[in-house]
Amino acid sequence: MPSVIQVPAEAQPSTHFDALAATNAYLAQIPADKTARSDAYFEGGYWMILWDFLYGAVIALLLLNLRWSARMRDLAERVTRFKPVHTFVYWLEYLILTTILIFPVTVYEDYFRERKYGLATQTLGPWLGDQLKSLGVGLVLGGLLVMLLFGIARRLPGTWWIWGAVVTILFLVFIVLISPVYIVPIFNKVTRLDDPKIVDPILSMARANGIPAKDVYEIDASRQTTRMSANVSGFANTMRITLNDNLLRRGSPEEIQAVMGHEMGHYVMNHIYKGIMFLSIVTVLAFVYLRWGLSWALRHWGEKWQIRGTGDTAILPLVLLLASVFGFVITPILNTYIRTQEYEADMYGLNTSRQPDGFAQAAIHLGEYRKMSPGPIEEWIFFDHPSGRNRIYAAMRWKAENLKLFAKHEEAQ
Ligand SMILES: [Zn+2]
Repeated sequence: MPSVIQVPAEAQPSTHFDALAATNAYLAQIPADKTARSDAYFEGGYWMILWDFLYGAVIALLLLNLRWSARMRDLAERVTRFKPVHTFVYWLEYLILTTILIFPVTVYEDYFRERKYGLATQTLGPWLGDQLKSLGVGLVLGGLLVMLLFGIARRLPGTWWIWGAVVTILFLVFIVLISPVYIVPIFNKVTRLDDPKIVDPILSMARANGIPAKDVYEIDASRQTTRMSANVSGFANTMRITLNDNLLRRGSPEEIQAVMGHEMGHYVMNHIYKGIMFLSIVTVLAFVYLRWGLSWALRHWGEKWQIRGTGDTAILPLVLLLASVFGFVITPILNTYIRTQEYEADMYGLNTSRQPDGFAQAAIHLGEYRKMSPGPIEEWIFFDHPSGRNRIYAAMRWKAENLKLFAKHEEAQ
């Protein structure tokens, strides 16, 4: 992809400015081979959703039917007589075993495939290092959650699904809160940006929008990837706006401002809080479904799988299998929820940054790893952001209605 994108003739302000023609002119700047490549990358991701789901289901059914899960539970019970420790030891066994079984898929999807498409910057050694760190995070945080949930399932056999949902939601809030300060730095270095050329316009935009930000952060994402991105993360006093170094290095000032305007939209429209509300509703539904699904499966196969009940850790592969079916089915709904917020942030970003061309450039850069022009149903099912084409069109539509801002600029030149 070209690093700095020129504003094509059709997107220059004129009396015959046409948003659709301007959009097509922007899209025409992407070389055909690059479009083919990012389409292939993104469409491959559709199949990965299916294969990951099926492969995970096969592993869960093997662990249950070969009674490996029951054996892991027996082993955990031999180690100690304390129930919470049983759960943690079982989790340790489960996590290590499934990580090994899924490893061929992980190494293909996360390493070889990313390298093949030129998106990865790591060699195998550092990549494996990151995988080990993730395993450590999963061991600690996942261990904490399963100990809490199995504690509830054992003590409150009638109402576990209500309290389980409550604890899962609180756990989710806790993760969002600690993530920018305690989890992200495990993998990347986050520093305060101090280049006034970049920071001053961003902080000015923040003040204009009533955002009490004193700092903007930079993350060294180039350690793992060539992808450009930025985000708003955290909650209450850990909430912050972060740009990644790929965006800083390759993005034009107009593009960076457009992206920051978008991120500020997330902030001002409370998207993190609304997202937590939405996921809370999803979590409650998931637990209602789990309560029904677990008792149905245990009635049929509980004895065969040697599972004693909902409070027995040996049930975990079944819980995760049912959860993955739920997740698979609601993927389009989750994507649509997120995509709707992203579209809102796009509109906010255009209004506040007034950089429709910077915004179009950003959409093209993000098109390095996303399909630019999907069909409408494809976009509805698989896209968690509006497609590049729709984002450029929204920017050009905005420009068409605000041509006088740019005409003045042209005269000055
Ligand atoms: Zn966003």
